[in-house]
Amino acid sequence: MHQFVYDFQESLDLSSPGILSLFNIASAKRRNLHLGYQVVDKEIVQLDELIKKAVKDCGDSKRIGGDEWLVFTYGEPIHLLEKICLEFADEQEIETGWRCVATKGEIEKQTKESVPATLKRGVRCIYTSLVDKKQLPMIVEEFQNEIWKIPVNCPYLLNSNDIKVEGNDWKAIDEIHEDVYCPICNSLEFEWDEGTDDSSEGSCKQCGAFCIFRFF
Ligand SMILES: [Zn+2]
Repeated sequence: MHQFVYDFQESLDLSSPGILSLFNIASAKRRNLHLGYQVVDKEIVQLDELIKKAVKDCGDSKRIGGDEWLVFTYGEPIHLLEKICLEFADEQEIETGWRCVATKGEIEKQTKESVPATLKRGVRCIYTSLVDKKQLPMIVEEFQNEIWKIPVNCPYLLNSNDIKVEGNDWKAIDEIHEDVYCPICNSLEFEWDEGTDDSSEGSCKQCGAFCIFRFF
């Protein structure tokens, strides 16, 4: 458990019971890939401010991870959690695809392929009541195990019976362009050396060109 969770537990004034919730930006990694980390860093600041503003008179919040916040609100103001989700939700049109630089001996060829796509933004929010501060780390652990299964932009009560797998149906992007080909000979077959979320490199099985792909 991260030290920030214990710091939050320590600082929390639990003079009256309330709702503890965990917020997590959906598909943050994918947003990084398409928009770049500078844009996503700004969105993190934006959500941080939204959360602070929403709970400033009725609770407390703390960012406990890169794209994760703990929020406590006195009473049961679920509408506040809904408001944060709705205000952060957004979508935009982008171009997604790949660029490749292929080299074979003296030959170098570059290719780019892309398609228009809609990229959605959202948060997952899971909550439960909190009456005893001692329970906080244990609840946070449960939150972190469950939050991936819930729908996006809709606060969800921890362990509610109607939890579905809807969360897994949500896609940040409606279209991807991953069919790569060799810019020199158009072959689809590669011997891959290495790959990450946003790049792959390897040799074309047909002409032997060395190809470096960057996805965006
Ligand atoms: Zn080739």
